[in-house]
Amino acid sequence: MLAYTVHDVAISCGIRELPPEDGWRCFESTGVATLTCSCGYTDGPMPKPLARLTAELHIHGAT
Ligand SMILES: [Zn+2]
Repeated sequence: MLAYTVHDVAISCGIRELPPEDGWRCFESTGVATLTCSCGYTDGPMPKPLARLTAELHIHGAT
């Protein structure tokens, strides 16, 4: 058993859904990312480079 909380951060980036056109689902890049961690922590949306940095800081215990 691990005695500490495992931080498994997922970075969801760059896609948002647009209204359908001619019955097709449409997506576009937003340039932003949202963080979701297995411990319940979430952050964002924020610019992708910042999201990666924020995720690393979170895993290493800063937040
Ligand atoms: Zn976490």
